[in-house]
Amino acid sequence: AKDNGRDNFQFYTEDMTQVAFEHVAMQASLRQAILNNEFEVYYQPQINALENKIIGMEALVRWKHPSLGIVTPDKFIPIAEETGMIVDLDRLVMKSAMKQWSIWYSQGLNPGVLSINLAVKQVQKADFIDFLQNCILHTQCRAEWLTLELTESDIMKNLEAMKQVLVQVKSLGIGIAIDDFGTGYSSLAYLKRLPVSKLKIDRSFIKDLPEDDEDSTIARIIIMMAKNLGIDVLAEGVETSEQRDFLLESGCAHIQGFFYSRPMPNEETLKYIQQWNQD
Ligand code: C2E
Ligand code: CA
Ligand code: CA
Ligand code: CA
Repeated sequence: AKDNGRDNFQFYTEDMTQVAFEHVAMQASLRQAILNNEFEVYYQPQINALENKIIGMEALVRWKHPSLGIVTPDKFIPIAEETGMIVDLDRLVMKSAMKQWSIWYSQGLNPGVLSINLAVKQVQKADFIDFLQNCILHTQCRAEWLTLELTESDIMKNLEAMKQVLVQVKSLGIGIAIDDFGTGYSSLAYLKRLPVSKLKIDRSFIKDLPEDDEDSTIARIIIMMAKNLGIDVLAEGVETSEQRDFLLESGCAHIQGFFYSRPMPNEETLKYIQQWNQD
C-alpha cells in the first residue's frame, strides 16, 4: 500500500524521540563515568623519522564503559563539550597522564614530550592556569615535558582571550601546538601573535600523499612556513612509508600515525618506549 503522510510522520517522531532519549541517556552515563573515572588514557608515539627517536606521545582518552567496552572519543567528546563536562574530563586526563610521565621519567625512561588535547572551554576557565600549576606540583611532572594541543578553529573563536592564557602557559615553560593545522583558519596572521611552538599538519592533507599534487603542495608550503617562522612541524595521520618518505624529503621529520603505532594503553606504551630507548 501507498504510504500515507500520517504514518510517515509517526515513524519520524518516534525516531526523533529515540535519538533524543539516547542523547539524554548518554549525558547521564557520561556524568556518572566522570564521577567514577571510567576513563583510560592511551598514548600514540610521535617519532623523529630522521634520527629514529621518540619525540613524545599524544594522550588520547578512551572510555571504558561497563557494558559497551572501549568507547572512542568521537562518541562522547562532542557531548562532553556541549554540556561543559569536558572541563572535568580533560582534567582527569591531565592528572593521569602527567602522573604517568613523572613515573616513567623517575624510572629512567624517556617517553619525550607529553602532548595533551584541550577543549576551548578548558582553556577559558578562570582557574585553568591554577589547575595546571597545581597538577604540575602534585604529579611532579615537569612543565618542559608538556605540550598542550589546541585546534586551530578553537583558537580562532576567541583569539584575544586565548592569547592571554597562552602567554601564561608559555611562561610556565609549556609548549603549545596547533592541532588540525590548515583546516580552521581565516588568516595566517594569528601565528605571529601567539606563542606557538608546533604546527600539526592535519591528516586530511596527509592521507593522499604523495600522489595528490594539491595536497603535496599544501604540505610542502606548511612545512616551509613553519621553518621560516621558527616553529616545529609534525605530520599527523601518517600511515605508509611513501607518506613518511615524502615528508622526510620535504623537510618534515616529525611524524605521528598508524605507520609507527596506533594509540596504545599504558603497558603497551611502556614496552614501546623501552624498545626505542634501547636502540
Ligand atoms: P586529534 O587530536 O586530531 O587526534 C588524532 C586522532 O587521529 C586520534 O583519534 C588518533 O587515534 C587518530 N589517528 C592517529 N593516527 C592515525 C592514522 O594514521 N590514521 C587514522 N585514520 N587515524 C589516526 P581518537 O583517539 O579517536 O581521537 C579523536 C579526537 O578526539 C582527537 O583528535 C581529539 O580532538 C579528541 N580527543 C581525544 N582525546 C581527548 C582529550 O583527552 N581531550 C579532548 N579535549 N579531546 C580529546
Ligand atoms: Ca590532537
Ligand atoms: Ca589532529
Ligand atoms: Ca585533491
